[in-house]
Amino acid sequence: MTELIVGSMLAIDSLSQIPGIAYIVFGVVVFILFIALLQHFSKAKCPKCKKRKSKEISRKLLNEKRERRSRTVNGETEDYYIWVRRYDITYECKKCGARFEKREKRIEDC
Ligand SMILES: [Zn+2]
Repeated sequence: MTELIVGSMLAIDSLSQIPGIAYIVFGVVVFILFIALLQHFSKAKCPKCKKRKSKEISRKLLNEKRERRSRTVNGETEDYYIWVRRYDITYECKKCGARFEKREKRIEDC
């Protein structure tokens, strides 16, 4: 039991030895990884080879709708508009060359 306490005390002590910059670097790395992961999963998945290595080659606008939203800026509420657009997007897989369509909803600023 005593050994365990000494052991954990040592762990805490060595942790505080890590300079603050290491935490910042670690945070930045985690952030970059997170963004990369997010980009990866936002890419369309190829139905043929299941790889997320597709690139958009064309898009067709199906419909668009203007929607009013409100936000609070400096304590004041203001309205703004956004476009809710639906597209049929054609992708081409960079891996196997398969072409496929995906219906997507995009929210864009006016
Ligand atoms: Zn593919």
